[in-house]
Amino acid sequence: MATMTPGNPAMPANSAGAIGRCQVCGNMRQTALVKFQHNVGMLVARQTRYIQGHMCKTCVSKKFWEFTGKNLLLGPWGMISLVLTPVYLVTNIAAYSSASRKLSGAVE
Ligand SMILES: [Zn+2]
Repeated sequence: MATMTPGNPAMPANSAGAIGRCQVCGNMRQTALVKFQHNVGMLVARQTRYIQGHMCKTCVSKKFWEFTGKNLLLGPWGMISLVLTPVYLVTNIAAYSSASRKLSGAVE
């Protein structure tokens, strides 16, 4: 996984429509700040992995599907995981749709 900057309020916000460096592919593109999470259920234990950063339109959808796939495959294996995985699925969809709205005019 690419190194992502955790939420840092001191970092100047990359406002919608601004050209910045995509933190996934490194290209100068129109980016939006997104966070995707997925759960890894291990019956008695669980882990949350996440990615957060400014991403271009291409990487937003690539990471969205990657994290959705991991949620579905690795997510629901445990009591808490069974509850948490759908929550992550929904929050990822919300993050994805808000990022796609911001980047709707982006040129790839
Ligand atoms: Zn990118």
